[in-house]
Amino acid sequence: MDTVVIGGGPAGLTAAYELSKQGKKSIVFEKADRVGGISRTETYKGYRFDIGGHRFFTKVGEVEQLWQEVMGDEFIKVPRLSRIYYKNRFFSYPLEPYNALSNLGFINSTLIMWSYFKAKVQPHPVEENFEQWVSNRFGKRLYETFFKTYTEKVWGIPCTEIRADWAAQRIKGLSLKKAIINAVFGSNNTKTLIKEFNYPVFGPGQMWERFQQILDSKGSPVHLNTEVIEVKREDYRVNSVTIKQNGQTEEVSGENFVSSMPVSLLLKKMNPAPPAEVLEAANGLKYRDFLIVTLVVDQAELFPDNWIYIHSPQFRVGRIQNFKNWSKAMVPDQSKTCLGMEYFCNENGKLWQMTNEELVKLASREVKELGLVDSDVNIEDGTVIRQYKAYPVYDDTYKNNVEIIRKYIQKFENLQTVGRNGMHRYNNSDHSMLTGLLAAKNILGEKHNLWNVNVERSYHEEFTNSNKAYSNLKNQKFVVSK
Ligand SMILES: Cc1cc2nc3c(=O)[nH]c(=O)nc-3n(C[C@H](O)[C@H](O)[C@H](O)COP(=O)(O)OP(=O)(O)OC[C@H]3O[C@@H](n4cnc5c(N)ncnc54)[C@H](O)[C@@H]3O)c2cc1C
Repeated sequence: MDTVVIGGGPAGLTAAYELSKQGKKSIVFEKADRVGGISRTETYKGYRFDIGGHRFFTKVGEVEQLWQEVMGDEFIKVPRLSRIYYKNRFFSYPLEPYNALSNLGFINSTLIMWSYFKAKVQPHPVEENFEQWVSNRFGKRLYETFFKTYTEKVWGIPCTEIRADWAAQRIKGLSLKKAIINAVFGSNNTKTLIKEFNYPVFGPGQMWERFQQILDSKGSPVHLNTEVIEVKREDYRVNSVTIKQNGQTEEVSGENFVSSMPVSLLLKKMNPAPPAEVLEAANGLKYRDFLIVTLVVDQAELFPDNWIYIHSPQFRVGRIQNFKNWSKAMVPDQSKTCLGMEYFCNENGKLWQMTNEELVKLASREVKELGLVDSDVNIEDGTVIRQYKAYPVYDDTYKNNVEIIRKYIQKFENLQTVGRNGMHRYNNSDHSMLTGLLAAKNILGEKHNLWNVNVERSYHEEFTNSNKAYSNLKNQKFVVSK
């Protein structure tokens, strides 16, 4: 086989797709029963839901083009509507001056401004961790109000233990000054992902299934339920992988190898094993896991948001998706609503260990306590999907570990690692796909350094209220008020 691709998520599929467009064959091995990886769409009794809502937004032209090529007119444009729940109140997000002021109160708002000016005059001298980075840009008080509790819920560690790199990657370009200017005057010159985003009408899985169909039809098959269990190498050349399918193992050789599986696991599957220092670095990489509890609620409309962030630490749920507000086609019965209650957790931690029944009960109780579903409304069904290694953790040691791994992988003449966990980088699906695309181009003779993706390109959210959909929402009566 020309190229063996490990993993049928966005990165792996993109690599195979680009190769097939240029007439090169590949074979994709995916251990799950469907394509899409963390970006897949699951179904339960006809209800469709993502592993956390997946927006399609990119500033990378090549990726945008690929999406349009594959999805065509089956992309819908979804207006983004979201709020933050904190201290029994719902804050509009993006910030809206009257809403923010009335929720925070005059005194608190003044103190926030004071704390902001203090940070400008006397910033923290070093910016090594998340707390220092955000406090320097927003002031300590706003950091404590809007960033600390949610971030600690997501990562399960104090913000002082999260590297500033993560903040720089995720919220680059944000500042309180900009937020206020945008909130007061509106912004019409900021390219931002928050106005509206693309979404396949049947959820992101539809796109990955389309990739799969195209690849299968072009002689580059995607094998599901097929796990790569060993990677055989000779010095810095991979010769073959051993796959396991239906309890049977088989060795598959190839000229080139592209891997999107978690790089820590890839290194542990190598035979012979990599040097001890590299294995140690692999063992040092940490992940945050995730589970989503999907609830079927016997009510046609609940709230207008696509999702709501739950910052209040007394609730274990981190974010709530309303999939019908992403696309009506996600819900088979329009008299019902399907909510996705997102819980950030650690594999084998307390939440992870709870039974599905217990989790459905917990989620049902929390959504009612939040006032998002009335106490007398029936939550008639629910299910749970657990996602291992949803987030690569940026802790004190990750950078050094990734550097050791990168140097080792780059010595290989025919192995490239791509994607989010393939490179232990906090990539969204567009950047994951870009690494897959560039890996394919490298196989075709070009020279790209995949490790530069999402390092140089600025990215991510900016506060603005230039959102037409948002102003429409302001005129609506909120269903929820606390
Ligand atoms: C809660 C949440 C919300 C998100 N929201 C968004 C969003 O709104 N927009 C966005 O663009 N991105 C979003 N992302 C990020 C997006 O999910 C990832 O960037 C993307 O899925 C990464 O693609 P990938 O191909 O690199 O990896 P993955 O999606 O992890 O795919 C890797 C694949 O490899 C397979 N695999 C692993 N080991 C083996 C093996 N040994 N053999 C064979 N196969 C194997 C896995 O089963 C998986 O299918 C979100 C992520 C999370 C966790």
